[in-house]
Amino acid sequence: MVIDADKCTGCQACVVACQSENNLALNEENRVIERRAKTWIRIERYWEGEWPNAKARFLPVLCQHCGNAPCETVCPVWATYHNPDGLNVQVYNRCIGTRFCANACPYSVRYFNFWEPEWPSPMDRQLNPDVTVRTKGIVEKCTFCIHRINRTKREANRDGRPVADGEVEPACVQACPTTALVFGDLNDSDSKVSELSHSKRAYSLLDSLGTAPAITYLKKVDPSHVDEHEEHGH
Ligand code: SF4
Ligand code: SF4
Repeated sequence: MVIDADKCTGCQACVVACQSENNLALNEENRVIERRAKTWIRIERYWEGEWPNAKARFLPVLCQHCGNAPCETVCPVWATYHNPDGLNVQVYNRCIGTRFCANACPYSVRYFNFWEPEWPSPMDRQLNPDVTVRTKGIVEKCTFCIHRINRTKREANRDGRPVADGEVEPACVQACPTTALVFGDLNDSDSKVSELSHSKRAYSLLDSLGTAPAITYLKKVDPSHVDEHEEHGH
């Protein structure tokens, strides 16, 4: 995935889409106060400068599907591992809830279920049947909407064709009104994500930790600091 910080307006459409697509329970006020709110993707907000010249910066943060994932090596039961597509996946019915993985993740994107998930009626009748409802006592996180990936692969296989670039869209990517999020196959050198990941604006989150994230960020372009040689990337 590529995330263009220059395009993100902080609208949170991706957050809501993820919540709905992946059957995350509502984050009611007391859950937020208790710091137990769950959002598989969150928008971090940073302020630069002083009023009246303050600027808000937004950064969507989700599981980075690290190539060297610290969460995988600490799991005693192999509930989280790398699948053949390069995704960091979670086997819910294998998880025993030690939370070692959540403590090891430097991006704080793993969530422990302290309670059984609940939805007020009639929201309990609109859950996504393609996504497992996770029970109390296990850890969960972003899957890159693996159910969408698998469905697209099955359909392409049935039709005897490869999956086209851009054919798979996780819910957050589909919902983003500014196309700040782009999803694709980094192993395909012709894909949009491969092209964008070579941008001069590209960087990885907490790169110095050596986690080899599968998400590339494109840095914000501040018009007041752009010189004529700097790439805008659009
Ligand atoms: S971001 Fe965290 S949960 Fe995701 S693969 Fe990396 S260490 Fe694991
Ligand atoms: S939907 Fe797009 S623009 Fe809105 S917060 Fe998410 S990434 Fe940013």
